[in-house]
Amino acid sequence: MRGWRIGKIMGIDIALDASWFLIFFLLVYTLGFIQFPRDLHPGRFRVSADAISITLGIAASVLLFASVLAHELSHSWMAIQLGTSVKRITLFIFGGVAQIAGEPDRPLSEFLIAIMGPLMSVALAALFGAAWLWLRILDSADVANGMLTPLILLTGILAQVNGSLALFNLAPGFPLDGGRVLRAILWGATHSIATATKWASRVGQLIAVLLIGSAFIGFFTGFGIGGIWNAFIGLFLWNAANEGYRQTLMVESLRGVSVSQLMTRAEAVSPDLTVGEFVEQYLLRQRDQTFVVTDGFAFLGVIGTSNIRNVSRPEWNIRRVRDVMTPSTSLQVLNPSDSVTTALARLANSDAEELPVLDAGQVVGFIGQNELARYLRLNAERKQM
Ligand SMILES: [Zn+2]
Repeated sequence: MRGWRIGKIMGIDIALDASWFLIFFLLVYTLGFIQFPRDLHPGRFRVSADAISITLGIAASVLLFASVLAHELSHSWMAIQLGTSVKRITLFIFGGVAQIAGEPDRPLSEFLIAIMGPLMSVALAALFGAAWLWLRILDSADVANGMLTPLILLTGILAQVNGSLALFNLAPGFPLDGGRVLRAILWGATHSIATATKWASRVGQLIAVLLIGSAFIGFFTGFGIGGIWNAFIGLFLWNAANEGYRQTLMVESLRGVSVSQLMTRAEAVSPDLTVGEFVEQYLLRQRDQTFVVTDGFAFLGVIGTSNIRNVSRPEWNIRRVRDVMTPSTSLQVLNPSDSVTTALARLANSDAEELPVLDAGQVVGFIGQNELARYLRLNAERKQM
C-alpha cells in the first residue's frame, strides 16, 4: 500500500491510502449530516445539518482517525523498542496498517508488539469515557446550560469507537492483534511459528466466515445494508489470513539460507564509460542486472536500468557512468554470511530493487527480488515432489 504521505512521527512515514478518503467523507457525512443533527435536537421531527453538527462531524472523524493512528503508533513504538524498524503507517478504509520490517524473531516480541495496539485503544476508550462521564455530571448539574451537549456527543462516540476498536482487534484470528497474541502463545508452546501461524490463521478465517454469515443473515432478516460492511471486513480478513500464512511459510523456508548461496555474481563496469557505451556493452545483454561501478580498487557505486531511465538520449554520449550511478555512500549493503531473512527485511526497508553484497570492501554479488523469487520457485517445486 503506497498512499499519500502526510507527515512523519518517530521517524515513521504516515500515509493515507486512496480508500481512506472514501471512508473519511462517508463518516463526516453520516455523523455531521444524519446522526449529530438528530442527537443535537432530540424529539424534533425533521432536523437538518447546521454549522455545529458539521463541525462536530469533522472533528469526530479526524479524532477517530487520530485514534487509529495512535493504535498503530503504539504497535510501532514497541517494535522499535525491540530493535525492529518501522517504515510507514498507512491509514486505509478498514483502519490502519504499520509496515514493520520482517517477522518478530521470538514469541515474546510478537506478543508485546501485538498487545500494545489494543492496550492503547482501551486507554483511549477509558480516557474519552471518563471525559464523557464528567461532562454528563456537569451537564446534569446545569452548570453550562446545555452548552456541553456537543462535547458530550464527541467524547461519547470516541469512547465507543475506541472500545470497539480494542474489542474487534482482540478477536483471536490472525492477522488481527488478538490472532497475533494467539500465535505468540502457540508459537511459545509448539516452538514452531509455521504451526502457530497455521492455527491462528484458521481461527482468523473462521471469524471471517462468521462475519460474512452474519451479514447474509442480517440482509435476509431485514437488518439491511449495514451488514454489508461486515461482509467486506470478513472478506478482507479472509484474504489477510491467507496472505499472512503464505508469507510466514515463505520467511520460514528462507531461514537458515545465507545471502552468498542466492546472490548473483557481480560484474564490474568502469566509471569512465559514457552512458551510451554502458548501455551498448552491458545493459543490452543483461537487461535486469545491476552492475558494480569500480575503478579497479574502490567500490564507487552501482548502476542499472533505473539509473538510465532519467537520462535523455542526447545526453548518452556526454554523461558518464560515474555521473548517473547510485553512489556507494547512499546504499545499504549485505554480508555474504547474512541470512536471507535479513536481506528480505533490508530490501523491504530500502527503495532499492537489489542490494550489493560486500566482502572485505569489494562487491561480490547482488541480491534482490529476482534471486529470492527464483529460490522460492525452486523450493516450492522441490516440496511438491
Ligand atoms: Zn492493532
